[in-house]
Amino acid sequence: MIDRMKDAVAAAARATRFVHASTSLAGVSKDDRSPVTIADWASQAVVSMHLGTDVPLVGEEDAATLRAPESASLRARVAEAVSHALGRATSESACLDAIDAGRAAPCARYFTLDPVDGTKGFLRRQQYAISLALIDNGIVVRGVVGCPNLPDDASDHGTGNDSTGNYDSADPIGCLAFAERGRGAFIQRGDGAPQRIHGAAWTVGAPVRACESVESGHSKQDLSAELLAAIGAPGRPARLDSQCKYVVVARGGADIYMRLPVKADYREKIWDHAAGALVASEAGARVCDVDGKPLDFSRGRELTDNRGVFAGHPEIVDRLVAAFAARVS
Ligand code: AMP
Ligand code: MG
Repeated sequence: MIDRMKDAVAAAARATRFVHASTSLAGVSKDDRSPVTIADWASQAVVSMHLGTDVPLVGEEDAATLRAPESASLRARVAEAVSHALGRATSESACLDAIDAGRAAPCARYFTLDPVDGTKGFLRRQQYAISLALIDNGIVVRGVVGCPNLPDDASDHGTGNDSTGNYDSADPIGCLAFAERGRGAFIQRGDGAPQRIHGAAWTVGAPVRACESVESGHSKQDLSAELLAAIGAPGRPARLDSQCKYVVVARGGADIYMRLPVKADYREKIWDHAAGALVASEAGARVCDVDGKPLDFSRGRELTDNRGVFAGHPEIVDRLVAAFAARVS
């Protein structure tokens, strides 16, 4: 099962890379999201085709817009990217059907997919992820995070607070992280052999290397700085888009990923966390919400019982949960 998932994500990465390579993003206006929507659709189609239909797929996208008569050129570009990724001519209608096959509802055992997580990072040609998880009775049991632009771990060195730019360029190879529940976490670059990964061996008193979202609308950045100061580790986290943050924590390149709620009523989506959270926890990280509660994937498409995320060295997470509680109470 994990091999099928890895193959699906690797093929989807070929589709998203193709969209990047064949599209000039320079002329794309802020509101024109077509490059990322083509990549989203192509990625979901490729994953859906790889996985088949025996286990339902709960994906982020559907093909309703793509089926509209005025979307003819988008449809052609999606089919072109899918054909490239699969290495065989694939019809538009096969793509549409595969995308819509990914609109299942959460049930006892299902896949969940974010075909392009970190759309802003994709548009900036920086970090984004293709994130696929298998959820069994509310528990994430397999996870694959494809990170097509993530540099190897050499770029983690020096990713202390106040450092920026480590993740701002696109690596030509990228990597793929994966985990099966109870069996550890692994990373693989290109065709290389999988390597076991472990979270950082942080010790009390050492600096805390944090990371967070690039988007201030997704994570309260002034509060992350405040909480780090409160636990005696002042500074600004490194910023990168997508579930690549979980992967950086899992490989020991950061000690903590902080996601602090901006809007009280926002609920995190399962496909934004399932695979990344499993990879990080299998690498030894503690993953929970800002109140210290484990992420509960048994509640449908949203983490309705959680707000925000901390993922990292267990001792740092404990301290941040306490600092968050002290601040809001
Ligand atoms: P990141 O790259 O870590 O900022 O995460 C990207 C994800 O943030 C997207 O896939 C969105 O689903 C999600 N998102 C959108 N709005 C919010 C919000 N208000 N708070 C937290 N996450 C959000
Ligand atoms: Mg997402």
